[in-house]
Amino acid sequence: MSLPPASQSYSSVKAILGGTFNPPHKGHIGAALKAADEIGINRVHLMPCKLAPHKSVGVSERHRVKMIELCAENNDRLIPELIELTLPSPSYTVKTLRALKEKSDDTICFFIGADSLYNLDKWYEWEHLLDYCHLVVMRRDDEKFSPPPAIQAWLDCHVANDKHAIHTKPAGHVVLTNTPLYRVSSTEIRDVLAGAPCDEKAGKPNSSNAESSKLWLEESVLDYINEHQLYKC
Ligand code: ATP
Repeated sequence: MSLPPASQSYSSVKAILGGTFNPPHKGHIGAALKAADEIGINRVHLMPCKLAPHKSVGVSERHRVKMIELCAENNDRLIPELIELTLPSPSYTVKTLRALKEKSDDTICFFIGADSLYNLDKWYEWEHLLDYCHLVVMRRDDEKFSPPPAIQAWLDCHVANDKHAIHTKPAGHVVLTNTPLYRVSSTEIRDVLAGAPCDEKAGKPNSSNAESSKLWLEESVLDYINEHQLYKC
């Protein structure tokens, strides 16, 4: 599809993946970059949220930021976006989007995994999200998107059939992407790093699972985790 003439086009498009990134892993990065490719965007901003103290799982904000910076140092398509850490806690995406819009006119594409989409109606002021951004959904655990009925009804009104529609309007579309499945989560990685049993039958850590889980981390992130002894019980 051809893009609109310059007179009709909106200022630049900023892709943002928000998350806890505790720790950031190749599932975040791989899915986000594939989704960016699909909608014709080069760079993705990684935006860590503020965590309530009881959810920080022993890892400070400073460490989460550093791990994101290490990912960005390794890949010039990734950029840290730290605005949410300057806003009041806890983080609410709609408030963050408003703060971003106050700073710049960029069109925002906010990336979420399918698991987040399925819970979207629990998010603060979720009906207003599309006033400020396009939502770009990455597949998470299933080949197909299977949202609950309330979310499906909302999607029916907002899904864009043309993935490049985000370039022709400043906000309001939902794009369901065809990203490959990256079967990993930060929770799994934290469990492995803490030495929790991965092989329930054996009841002890399974070293091959543990090693393969670590492969989901950028090498520099794994080195950083080891150096600072993060996620140890
Ligand atoms: P946790 O296991 O701690 O809940 P997580 O791995 O789900 O963490 P988050 O930082 O909470 O990671 O996720 C940020 C966003 O990235 C969410 O929208 C989530 O759905 C998405 N995401 C995380 N992991 C993947 C993945 N493997 N594939 C696609 N999207 C992902």
